[in-house]
Amino acid sequence: MKRPAPPSPHPWTEWTIEMIDPLLRVPPGGTLGVFGGGQLGRMFGLAARQLGYRFVVFSDSENGPASEVADRAVCANYDDEAAIGEFARSVDAVSFEFENVPAIAGETAAQFTAVRPAGGLLHIVQDRIREKNALVKLGLPVADFRPIATEDDLAEAALALPAAGVLKTSSFGYDGKGQARIESSASLADAWRSLGRVPAVLETLVDFEEELSVIVARGVDGDVAVYEPFSNEHVHHILDVTICPAELAEDVLTEVHRIARSVVEGFDVVGVVCIELFRLSDDSLLVNEIAPRPHNSGHLTIDAHVCSQFEQQARAVAGMPLGSPARIGPPAAMANLLGDLWSGGTPNWAAALRIPGVSLHLYGKAGARPGRKMGHLSAIGATGQEAAARVREARAALTAG
Ligand code: AMP
Repeated sequence: MKRPAPPSPHPWTEWTIEMIDPLLRVPPGGTLGVFGGGQLGRMFGLAARQLGYRFVVFSDSENGPASEVADRAVCANYDDEAAIGEFARSVDAVSFEFENVPAIAGETAAQFTAVRPAGGLLHIVQDRIREKNALVKLGLPVADFRPIATEDDLAEAALALPAAGVLKTSSFGYDGKGQARIESSASLADAWRSLGRVPAVLETLVDFEEELSVIVARGVDGDVAVYEPFSNEHVHHILDVTICPAELAEDVLTEVHRIARSVVEGFDVVGVVCIELFRLSDDSLLVNEIAPRPHNSGHLTIDAHVCSQFEQQARAVAGMPLGSPARIGPPAAMANLLGDLWSGGTPNWAAALRIPGVSLHLYGKAGARPGRKMGHLSAIGATGQEAAARVREARAALTAG
């Protein structure tokens, strides 16, 4: 998932002047900030506050999910350098809850506070071509791809395309938006036109067995914590249900860990990263994309793991020791609650909460629109499938009768 933000005229530069001690530790009692006001910022803030931090949000919209739980919320545009400077001076360290924060916001904040993860990684993941090239450079497997910026690139890609493919805009695509499936090279030009002829990347269509994700954190001291991989089911390109753990052969698990470690060490990350993967029928893996922040598939770590992905983000961003990524008990599952569930009126919360072991998380969003992520349910079970059946049953109960 990548959420859109206004494009920045400023190229993201590697910050050359290290004004803040890279090993800075901010003990509880200090103040953590976040760029972005959505649900990921909200859950980061709740975890930070539980650890005893004050929490400040910078967002371009008022009263979002994160602002509701913040000690203070700054509402201004992401290119308002004065507002960013004031915000950055008021926090000891700052993180992101979405990757398309314009360059100028991070650059300005870095003059006054620790920005974690640092801007280099954000710069990379804001553009799918840059991201794929960087992953290849790290020796990580990705689907075959061709960048498309001109008519010549288009003609070349049409010749190179083996059969079916997926055309994706380089920037600002998320949850399947900015994507077109190509059945044959004949439809490539039309597909590019439908995406507005913006810079794009053509990938071969991957015939995957399973979609996986792995959350990994790295601390200021270089410590790495890898969560067990999750198995993800999507509906209309939006994550629907996550099962933890994914049932994987030992060598696949080893390869997931190698990839996770390579990403955080290769990009010198301090913070939390999610890596989305395809597992093919021969058990080989391809990296689909990386998110330099907690991820929707990791929400079940709040209820099922020793240290949630959000507490982990708070610890890493504050320069504190990382927590354990181990699961506390049995397998777990998470089901997203989209705005569609509100089409017949307010969901029947009591019916879902009556099911033993089900946890409800709502993000405090006012307008329930189709496809909008409003909250999630999580549950545990004797097996991952049993946990998934429980969250599905609870979700169905919301609109039954
Ligand atoms: P993305 O925005 O890249 O995360 O893509 C959203 C979803 O589209 C993924 O979770 C997959 O289900 C599907 N998808 C993306 N790229 C490919 C591909 N190259 N081949 C097959 N399915 C894909």
